[in-house]
Amino acid sequence: MIALGIEGTAHTLGIGIVTERKVLANVFDTITTEKGGIHPKEAAEHHAKLMKPLLKKALQEAKISLEDIDVVAFSQGPGLGPCLRVVATAARALAIKHDKPIVGVNHCIAHVEITKMFGVKDPVGLYVSGGNTQVLALEGKRYRVFGETLDIGIGNALDTFAREVGLGFPGGPKIERLAREGKRYIELPYAVKGMDLSFSGLLTEAVRKFKSGKYKIEDIAYSFQETAFAALVEVTERAVAHTEKGEVVLVGGVAANNRLREMLRIMTEDRGVRFFVPPYELCRDNGAMIAYTGLKMYKAGITFRIEETIVNQKFRTDEVEVIW
Ligand code: AMP
Ligand code: MG
Repeated sequence: MIALGIEGTAHTLGIGIVTERKVLANVFDTITTEKGGIHPKEAAEHHAKLMKPLLKKALQEAKISLEDIDVVAFSQGPGLGPCLRVVATAARALAIKHDKPIVGVNHCIAHVEITKMFGVKDPVGLYVSGGNTQVLALEGKRYRVFGETLDIGIGNALDTFAREVGLGFPGGPKIERLAREGKRYIELPYAVKGMDLSFSGLLTEAVRKFKSGKYKIEDIAYSFQETAFAALVEVTERAVAHTEKGEVVLVGGVAANNRLREMLRIMTEDRGVRFFVPPYELCRDNGAMIAYTGLKMYKAGITFRIEETIVNQKFRTDEVEVIW
């Protein structure tokens, strides 16, 4: 069976075409702004403009036509309303015109589900991106969020810090590079609050330290990463201890970070748990993960009536019954 998936919850429009075992195409386009902020309406216009060319590119790459597709899947939420509506509209149009079933997919769940294409069975997922930071795992028939950010996503915290100190956007890779040169650990507010996370205090203090002129940027970047990532690893480890699961996966755009991977590798080795990070194109926001999750849902008997395809900006991870 073949599924086509459209992702467009935030700044990336992605179209993926997959079978149960293989990614046939996975193409994207991301709107970038100099300031790094994201304007929902501009992002939605970007998605609308690129829908047709990206769809064509994906079909060419997969060497199939729309008629060959068994199910159309789309990111139903959580995300920015205007972006979600463009994506849902395109998915509905394809489903109606070509008489195909349609399935709405939860974006956060799809980030974790795609790891199952690589033999992962039942992991604890650390999902870290610009806007999202969640530790999630299946408990019974639902993904439960064991910990999440109470304010901003870790990627956002890195990007905002980078912008405030004049490094430009996106900040994550630049901070990672600087952090490698850092030698001195500077104490910053720790981000764990119970099982949840909060990065705004850390961000404010790191900016304040920079502006004081007393510290080297390399040392602040290094300390920022060490402090923020230790918090992420701690919450992940506690979820592993609680659920007794044997696998941890790292997904989302921030999964590119080598120091975060290293820290998770050490934690999982200590615990004798498998650790997996998918290829970066499947970590970041992408259509293949939506297609893959939609395909599994469809095979389990789930399809949506058109009136059920309404978007859900606040779509919660635990709203979905996982019967696939
Ligand atoms: P996403 O929101 O999933 O599209 O991912 C984008 C986020 O990933 C941005 O906040 C980037 O700063 C962040 N990011 C990308 N590469 C890295 C990296 N090497 N280290 C940390 N964060 C990164
Ligand atoms: Mg994402």
